[in-house]
Amino acid sequence: MSQESFVIDLQALAKDGGRVHRTVPVESLGRLVESLLEPVGTVTFEFQGERDDEGKLYVDLQIQGDLVLQCQRCLEAMVWPCNVQNRLLLLRSGEELPENELENDAVDALEVEPLTDLLALVEDEVLLALPLVPRHENCEPPVKAGVDDEISPFAVLRQLRGKV
Ligand SMILES: [Zn+2]
Repeated sequence: MSQESFVIDLQALAKDGGRVHRTVPVESLGRLVESLLEPVGTVTFEFQGERDDEGKLYVDLQIQGDLVLQCQRCLEAMVWPCNVQNRLLLLRSGEELPENELENDAVDALEVEPLTDLLALVEDEVLLALPLVPRHENCEPPVKAGVDDEISPFAVLRQLRGKV
């Protein structure tokens, strides 16, 4: 299977109210893979274009997929269900953000070139959404060999108390 190109004219998609819906292997997202414990599974994304009554161009973006991160507490694998939803206002390069959109938190402005790499955009959005310190809800730190050699401050405190 040849590598499908996801470089498209995003503004044209929005003008036509078009939609792109694809599922790609996680390993095709090279920058994201660097943040994962294992590059397994797939990511599904959808771009839904929209032109509003004022002629402004939007794309509603949805990304879903189970990503395997490393828990920072027990250091084991943890599956993080990625679920990104974003509404992007498309601006031509150099175009100012309309004033009434400045305070609209629900919309992110995106300056688009004539051609946009959808995969790169998906990757950017997922990277932004990744938890900074992924952790299972309930887990224990690994028991390291030789942990007895390290004297924890609490153990010292208990010893001191015992002497009093
Ligand atoms: Zn854990």
